[in-house]
Amino acid sequence: MTTFIYGIDIGGTKMELSVFDANYHCVKSWRVATPATNYPMFLNALQEMVQQADSLTDCQGRVGIGMPGIIDKQGLVKSANVPCATGKAIKKDIEQVLQRRIAIENDCRLFAFSESNGGAGNGYAIVYGAIIGTGAGGGLCIQGSLYSGANNIAGEYGHLPVSAQLIAKYQLPVLDCGCGLIGCYEPYISGPGLANIYALYGGEPNTQILVNQLRAGDPKAVKAFGCYIDLLGASFASIVLSYDPDIIVLGGGLSKIDEIISALPAAIEMHLFKGVQSPVIAPAIFGDASGARGAALLGAIQ
Ligand SMILES: [Zn+2]
Repeated sequence: MTTFIYGIDIGGTKMELSVFDANYHCVKSWRVATPATNYPMFLNALQEMVQQADSLTDCQGRVGIGMPGIIDKQGLVKSANVPCATGKAIKKDIEQVLQRRIAIENDCRLFAFSESNGGAGNGYAIVYGAIIGTGAGGGLCIQGSLYSGANNIAGEYGHLPVSAQLIAKYQLPVLDCGCGLIGCYEPYISGPGLANIYALYGGEPNTQILVNQLRAGDPKAVKAFGCYIDLLGASFASIVLSYDPDIIVLGGGLSKIDEIISALPAAIEMHLFKGVQSPVIAPAIFGDASGARGAALLGAIQ
């Protein structure tokens, strides 16, 4: 009998269910709006999606779910993007409505898990996966297994503090972070962060304009990009000092900017001891599909 696995990627506005066959080929996927502020409706919407998948596959597929936020080992959630789930025992509740066991994990951790297993990190022992998009989150895989730590927060590199040296060097404002801390990397190195840095240098707060101007050699864009890549390099140097990965796989909107991929190794080495080499830096293979694929991979071993 063919087995199917459903990878569900829950975002703040949409949630997507992808049906994978036993070889992790996606055979069908669809999206619905996320009822982000109404928990019973949220559970109902998930139940409906899975029922549809079950009738499509004519089986009771395994389920893996990825979502933004922190999901602790008891299955309790803290999520700014799906506020109705905060404080809820989400794993238990979903298992109850779906009448089956599920796996649920932070979406950035699943990105790392997916890229470590069959993605850009395949064949590397220690893979760090980092998303640079609307936020900055990541995860660590060791020999293909996800390392999450005591609080399930290992990999949250976006909330390391920016060094005082960099704040002084670029005379940057110390920014509040959405996580409640002050001076985290995320508001500088995320997509909105790059746009804000460009604005500090007198440009328009828009990453696409920055990239166009950078390619045209505009001095403001060159300076803003130099500041940005220095900050991003420093944040990954902290990852190297902590975990020393063989490869850092990048996902999210900014990973599509070639200049970031090519400039990053030297920018990381600037913040390491002399002679220490940067890990390999590579863009993700599965890109935006990595969340659902990682969820399915985790669901399969649940
Ligand atoms: Zn933070």
